[in-house]
Amino acid sequence: STGEPLLGLRDVTVRYGGVVAVDNVTFDVPDGAIVGLIGPNGAGKTTLIDAISGSVSAEGAITIGNESLANKKTHERIHAGLGRTFQAIELYEDLSVRENVVVGLSGRGRAGAAFDEAEFDEIFDLLGLAHARERPAGELSQGQRQLVSIARAMAGKPRVLLLDEPAAGLDTTESHWLGDRLLAIRDSGVTIVLIEHDMSLVLRICDHVQVLDFGRILASGTPEEIRDDPKVAEAYLGSM
Ligand code: ATP
Repeated sequence: STGEPLLGLRDVTVRYGGVVAVDNVTFDVPDGAIVGLIGPNGAGKTTLIDAISGSVSAEGAITIGNESLANKKTHERIHAGLGRTFQAIELYEDLSVRENVVVGLSGRGRAGAAFDEAEFDEIFDLLGLAHARERPAGELSQGQRQLVSIARAMAGKPRVLLLDEPAAGLDTTESHWLGDRLLAIRDSGVTIVLIEHDMSLVLRICDHVQVLDFGRILASGTPEEIRDDPKVAEAYLGSM
């Protein structure tokens, strides 16, 4: 991790018909950082990571390292180093944790590639899933389910991991444990963009926070600066 910009967004705009869901968003995600992406419901957070991962089309520039993602399809963006999770986790309930990760890989341009067991061991160790690898997904806690979806994304060997509310549905203990796992992922060299409503998690693990409101960047700074920013409090109040 160099701290140099790894993921770059310049004037990224996404329109749904007449609705501007993401409006001229510009920021860098430094290599090796955990960057929080927060904001009220409907602010455009998921749409922004959809734009980065290529599942919606966007205006503006999106780069990873020196590589432009603009005209790349989703699988090419995965190849370029992007991984992501989704708000709704879809697991095969009867398949084991390990099988769920293997199945996930086949959708990521690695179908037929040799599945290196040592790679899996590394990912499962990092995520604290080693003891659960043969358990059916249907028996897992919500926190473990989140980690399986992250393991799927990690199996694509991302340089940047985009996480959409991984603490949703977790209690305080599980959320803290998830935070430890995310720090371990970061320490292994993976840069993280974290959409999250759990502010204690954001305050604890993020190096930097970007606040979206009505599709625009409302504020950015350290977690403490964001917590103490009256503009941010007002945006959240306005949404309640
Ligand atoms: P949440 O925290 O509730 O997940 P969010 O910040 O992720 O919210 P988005 O889901 O990105 O916000 O939504 C941003 C805006 O774009 C909202 O006004 C939403 O209604 C609109 N929007 C999202 N997806 C679509 C779509 N497929 N078609 C039309 N409008 C959409």
